[in-house]
Amino acid sequence: MIRAVPHVAAMAPYALADLGGAGTVSLVQNESAFPPSPAALAAGRAVLEQMPLYPDPEWPDLRAAAAQVQGLDPAKILCGAGSMELISCLIRAFSGPGDHVLGTDYGYAFAASAAAQVKAGYVKARERELTVSVDDILTAVTPETRIVFVCNPGNPTGTLIPNSEILRLREGLPENVLLVADQAYAEFADADNDPGDTFALAERGDTVVLRTLSKAYGLAGARAGWGYFPTAIAGEVRKLLNPNNISIPSQAMAAAAMRDQAHMRDVVAKTAVLRDGFADGCRALGLEVPQSHTNFVLIRFASASQAQAADRALRAENLLMRGMGGYGLGDCLRATICSRDVMDHALDVLKGVLA
Ligand SMILES: *Cc1c(COP(=O)(O)O)cnc(C)c1O
Repeated sequence: MIRAVPHVAAMAPYALADLGGAGTVSLVQNESAFPPSPAALAAGRAVLEQMPLYPDPEWPDLRAAAAQVQGLDPAKILCGAGSMELISCLIRAFSGPGDHVLGTDYGYAFAASAAAQVKAGYVKARERELTVSVDDILTAVTPETRIVFVCNPGNPTGTLIPNSEILRLREGLPENVLLVADQAYAEFADADNDPGDTFALAERGDTVVLRTLSKAYGLAGARAGWGYFPTAIAGEVRKLLNPNNISIPSQAMAAAAMRDQAHMRDVVAKTAVLRDGFADGCRALGLEVPQSHTNFVLIRFASASQAQAADRALRAENLLMRGMGGYGLGDCLRATICSRDVMDHALDVLKGVLA
């Protein structure tokens, strides 16, 4: 029998979402309710003839677009096949057996899986009221801590801490601890946040900021993410990235999508209206919904059995939300914001369940 190395054999498979069967309307994966910029689709189509070639391993146009839009140095940008690839390479490069990656109660589950791949431990600092707590992270740091991984805004909570809190976290961490700020939903939160410059933390040499094209830019299928890296950190991560990791059309679509900021802002604004309307509707039914700064909401029911009843009723209508038992939130469902029709339908089903 062919056996995997013991720590891989002992790992559970990564818990991907249940996507339902044919005909299911998915409110599961935080995909955009709106199409990407028409300029992005045109840019993707325009390069299809180049498919016999390998993609550019330096992502020059995507880097230039990200740098231009965010006012950054393109030399400090690395791009990944989704930001998941960057998370995985960071954890592989900067932690190993016996080291600890420190996340938070409801932080991104993928970071725990990436830590297990390198036999690093994954430790969770306490969150308060479903919100990241900088003080709790700082007290959870031990000599084993090599990486602190914080999602802001949070997934699956949708909650936000101010940029100034990320700066305070960095000030309080030991210099030999790498801080990774995962800002997958930042475009939805920028208007609500203070002007604290988290990208500037890369200048210190000990902090990485990650962004993605998968959410506000509507390009989850393209697999394109990027990050702002201190030069020395980038050099190590580069060794682990797959060369030619982002396809030619995906690089072209991602760069064009970033250059169409007006489209992205319009998507963010429309999503926020649908989100806040749906959240208010849920609250009117007596459900608890933390204010979201993302394209999804976390719905807290009176009990886990009520959440399960809601899940069954939604499934009976071909609507699928994400169960949160894996995060210790069995009394919650997470709902990606979809079209108004879908959200109204979901709200009607919840009304029926709670009646
Ligand atoms: C969606 C998401 C990402 C982005 O993943 P990609 O690989 O870029 O698609 C990263 N972090 C969190 C918390 C997310 O929810």
